[in-house]
Amino acid sequence: MLAVSLVTVLSCQTTPVGRRQLALVPSHQMSLMGAEAFANLKETMEIEDDPTLLTYINCVSSALIKNVEGTTDWEVVLFREDSANAFALPGGKIGVHTGMLEVAENQHQLAAVLGHEIAHVISNHANERISENFVVEGGLAIVAATLRNRESPSYKLLMAALGLGAQFGIILPHNRRQETEADVIGLDLMATAGFEPKQSLKLWANMAEKGGAGIPEFLSTHPSHGTRSQTLERNMPRALQLYEAAVTRPTCAPNDSGSQTN
Ligand SMILES: [Zn+2]
Repeated sequence: MLAVSLVTVLSCQTTPVGRRQLALVPSHQMSLMGAEAFANLKETMEIEDDPTLLTYINCVSSALIKNVEGTTDWEVVLFREDSANAFALPGGKIGVHTGMLEVAENQHQLAAVLGHEIAHVISNHANERISENFVVEGGLAIVAATLRNRESPSYKLLMAALGLGAQFGIILPHNRRQETEADVIGLDLMATAGFEPKQSLKLWANMAEKGGAGIPEFLSTHPSHGTRSQTLERNMPRALQLYEAAVTRPTCAPNDSGSQTN
């Protein structure tokens, strides 16, 4: 018991908004796991290579990442997938499905998606999920063994903890708290980069609308539309101040000079 509580005391960190979290796995190990899971996805999923789309995605993501501290080796990949999904893995690996570009109808809305995903990474949410679901019970050795054995019953759980919940059909406890936190931090990130923060509300409205014919994966692990809108509205005054103070106004796509998309 003493050993466990000592580890806990030594391994509490805080997220960018100051919430204390359990993070027991060394960060380089988290990055290795994220890189491995990402490499697997890149082997099994089809990657979109349309230069116009890639320029667009890179323009939005680099505008956001520029304001993030630290030495994370960011990588954003566009996967050819119709579902409106996006995900983040530790170590700065971010995946976007082409279906998301149907829902995020301009650069500001795409910035809301990517800002949310970047927020998951810089808040160490995966480490927290693994620490809560694996480490306390079995130690780091269990995590390593699970990662090596894809047939293990815990493998899907580990992948979900890393950030692939939608892909593996698993919603982990405490996800809502992390999702709300990622919304708040993501909103600040997009505003600081000069994207219009109010477009985040439009993005989630589009997402909810798409849900009519079956809820998009991205929503299934995320808070309800009403809860999410309330959180964003509550944080909008600060985001608008950040937006007004932003030194840049990115222009990532030819049709993005204004935001008047219906
Ligand atoms: Zn999320």
